[in-house]
Amino acid sequence: MKLDTVLVLSRHDGENLSESSREMLTAAREVADRVVSATFGTPPVAELARYGADEILVVDPDTVTSSGADLNHPAVWAALAIAGAEKMSPRAIFMASSYLGKEIAAQAAVQLDSGVVTDADSVSVAGGQLTISKAVFSGTWATDGEIIRGIPVIALRPTAVEASATDKADAAVTDLEITVPERAKRTRLISLTKRENTGPNLAESQVVVVGGRGTDGDFGPVNELAELLGGAVGATRVACDEGWIDRSAQIGQTGETIAPNLYIGVGVSGAVHHTSGMLASERIVAICDDSEAPIFEIADFGIVGDINDVVPQAIEAIREAGL
Ligand SMILES: Cc1cc2nc3c(=O)[nH]c(=O)nc-3n(C[C@H](O)[C@H](O)[C@H](O)COP(=O)(O)OP(=O)(O)OC[C@H]3O[C@@H](n4cnc5c(N)ncnc54)[C@H](O)[C@@H]3O)c2cc1C
Repeated sequence: MKLDTVLVLSRHDGENLSESSREMLTAAREVADRVVSATFGTPPVAELARYGADEILVVDPDTVTSSGADLNHPAVWAALAIAGAEKMSPRAIFMASSYLGKEIAAQAAVQLDSGVVTDADSVSVAGGQLTISKAVFSGTWATDGEIIRGIPVIALRPTAVEASATDKADAAVTDLEITVPERAKRTRLISLTKRENTGPNLAESQVVVVGGRGTDGDFGPVNELAELLGGAVGATRVACDEGWIDRSAQIGQTGETIAPNLYIGVGVSGAVHHTSGMLASERIVAICDDSEAPIFEIADFGIVGDINDVVPQAIEAIREAGL
């Protein structure tokens, strides 16, 4: 038996849903008979329906901005979750476990007096009971848990669930009003600039090529390999500390958590602080000159060798194969 209703906080740019919103809707569809999406602005209704929304609650963004609050403020999104929950009495609320999503989840759960799980890997339902699976202790343990208080608030890791569409084409759209909290007016976003040439989004990319200390600062081959495979570039903390790449590329305990189909470590030793952020990758490839490096313990395919020899050869072979 599934849950009756799950509320999903969805993000879009007016034309398309974000990839993680598609994933959240897919996950919600698996565990609930009815999926309600809550969002701001003019959402892509047909796409929301295709990914599983039966009903869409829409807040007019002017009602938020005219009060002096910022639409990107987590307190505003938490207010959206509260208003959606009051209207729909869902059995759970889902959102993406991005930096913003985790903040929203925490604030919404406190206000709802509910339990919360962030960085969840998957959700399942049996006999009407929702189970949340999550890797803990730097990815060394897999846990299954239940939230036993309030309306479960669950932030699922981007890419943990594969988005899949249905052929449903329409969903009911209902206006929703939210109460903008005072704390949402205390800070204001002055500008939001998309960085150029940063390639695919790290958290959402299905291929991630990661450079470590072994690159010795030359990220050229890492960038080339990532571009060839249509992937994103990540890094270890050492590479970020050295200033070889922007901090936003850091993967691990104090960086991004990723779960791509393919992770390629280039000159990465596989320290636990790093692997905790990539252990859920479907396939792990490691190129490192130290055969004792811990990354080989978790790698599906390992190459012991100098990255300066191996990576150019790999690039050439991929080009020749026309992949
Ligand atoms: C509280 C805390 C939080 C942390 N958070 C993070 C985090 O979020 N993310 C993170 O990544 N780290 C984190 N760290 C740091 C982490 O412990 C490791 O120090 C770091 O991940 C190591 O990065 P690395 O693999 O690039 O470097 P190293 O461990 O130095 O490994 C580099 C590897 O490359 C190999 N190598 C060198 N030259 C070549 C070559 N030419 N060809 C092939 N291989 C070569 C070396 O033999 C070595 O195995 C954290 C540490 C602490 C204490």
